[in-house]
This record gives sequence, C-alpha cells and structure tokens, in this order.
Amino acid sequence: MYRNLTAAVLAAQTGWNEWESYGDDLAGFLLLAIPIVFLYGICIGSFLNVVIIRLPRGESLIKRSSHCMTCGAKIRLIDLIPVFSWIFLRGKCHSCGEKISPRYPIVESLNGLLYVANLLVFGVSVNCFLMCIFTSLLICIGFIDWDTMDMYVPMLLMIAVLAIPAYFVTYHSIWERLIGMLCISVPFFLIGEISGAYIKKKTGEKVRGIELGDTILMACAGLYLGYKSIIPAAVIGIFLAVIFGLIIKKVTGSSKFAFGPYLCVGLLLGAWFGEQISDWYYKSMLMPIFEPERMQFTTSALFPLLFR
Ligand SMILES: [Zn+2]
Repeated sequence: MYRNLTAAVLAAQTGWNEWESYGDDLAGFLLLAIPIVFLYGICIGSFLNVVIIRLPRGESLIKRSSHCMTCGAKIRLIDLIPVFSWIFLRGKCHSCGEKISPRYPIVESLNGLLYVANLLVFGVSVNCFLMCIFTSLLICIGFIDWDTMDMYVPMLLMIAVLAIPAYFVTYHSIWERLIGMLCISVPFFLIGEISGAYIKKKTGEKVRGIELGDTILMACAGLYLGYKSIIPAAVIGIFLAVIFGLIIKKVTGSSKFAFGPYLCVGLLLGAWFGEQISDWYYKSMLMPIFEPERMQFTTSALFPLLFR
C-alpha cells in the first residue's frame, strides 16, 4: 500500500500541508497507524478507568486485581480486553449478571479516539506523545471532578511538568508560556475570591464561584500550551459550562455543578485549534484596528487546510 514508510513518517512530521505530495504513502501509513494508536489508546484508557474509580476512594492503583463492583468476583483475564470484553459480555458481570457501567468502554474508546485525533492533528512527533499524556490526564481530571467535584493537585501539576519537554519540541517561548500560566488563572482566582466572600456573607457557606482546582488546572495548562491556546480554551470551557449549567439547573434544580469537565473539553479543543483561533481572531478583529498597514499580507489562518 505504501511505497515508502519513511517518506510517510516525514510527511506526518512536516504537517498535513504536505499531504498531496506524499499521496498514497501517507494514506497507507495512516491505515496502519490509526488502528495501532487506537488499540494503544483503549489499553491506556482501561488504566484510566482504574484511576478514576480508585483514586477518589483512596484505593491502591496497582495492588488488588480488578473485581466486580457488585459481587466482588475477580474479573477473568479474557474479560479484561478493553471495550471488546464489555461488548462480548453485553455489559454484564460473568458471575452475577449485574450490569457493568457503560462508562468503562466509553472512557476506553474516548481515550483511543482522542489519541487518533492527536495523531491526525500533530503527526508522528514527540509533541503528539506529550499531547496523548495531556489528553489522558484531562480525561482523569474531568471524570473525577464530575464524580466528586474535586481535583487532585498532583495530577494538575503533571500538566505543568509536561511544559518542560514541550519547551524543546514546540516553538512557544518561555514568555508565551508564563503569560499563558497567568492570563486565565489570575482572573479565575480573583473571581473565586470575590464570589467566595460574597457567598459567605450572604449564606454563610464556604463555596467559591470558581474552585481553586479549576484555577490551578488553567495555570498548569497555560504553562504547557501558551497563551494563544489557553485563552480560546477558557472561552470554550466557560461557554460550555454556562450552557450545560443552565440545563443542569433546569433538570435538577441545583446550581452546583463541576466546572472541570467543561474546562477539560475546552482545553482539548484549545490545544488542537487554539492557536489558529487566536491568530484568526487577531487578524480579523484586532489587526484592522491596531495594524491596518499589515492587512494586505494576511490570509485566513483558521483551518488552513480548508482555506488553501
Ligand atoms: Zn459480579
């Protein structure tokens, strides 16, 4: 199918703008790479399930082998295959027949699909590998926050640690990253403080409008992604949270809900398209005001593949 794998890998590294020049090679490479990356992703996703379930309960992540949540039966080796086992068992425990939550295969396939998406966005690169770690961390952070309304600071700090290798494989300067670290987290912190004081005065409750976990998440992710990605990520996250917050309030009557999952979705979209969105916004909205003399050189920066 592919005449030259090296050429295909090179094409992937140089970005999809080179797509046509490699033609069949790249198509063949993708045909091979996508299933492998997907399978790898769902295996890691299987571990993420363990983290999401056990970490909030304070259970060991490695010690005890997987067991049925209802009858405690040890899960057989054959039933440990991510996604597929759940489908073969029709979502039921082999021992007691109790339903197994569809969330297990959902988390697994989500991780697999997002790894494939990372491959398509970033090509075969160190950056892609880092993005896959980032994606898996976001899945854990998002689901744990959804379940417990809480975040694990060590998990958030791992995103900040990713900024170190990212510094060497992407072109964002330290300044871009430092601005990214502060430009969302500082307003989040201030909103949290002010709303916290207001709520305490009014109801006596100790709640913040924006929790510290969300603030630290945006600081760490900003350091990793840079300000051009973190700003659109925050805008998307807040937009989603407002929409779903209103829906949740209408359905359950409660105005308390986890902000984290929406921020995680925003961060993922921000990591993929944030820079294009920022560049497009700058060129179409700000440049005509501040730098009209440069206007003639610009083309649409959003989705270069579509507007070429
Ligand atoms: Zn069982």
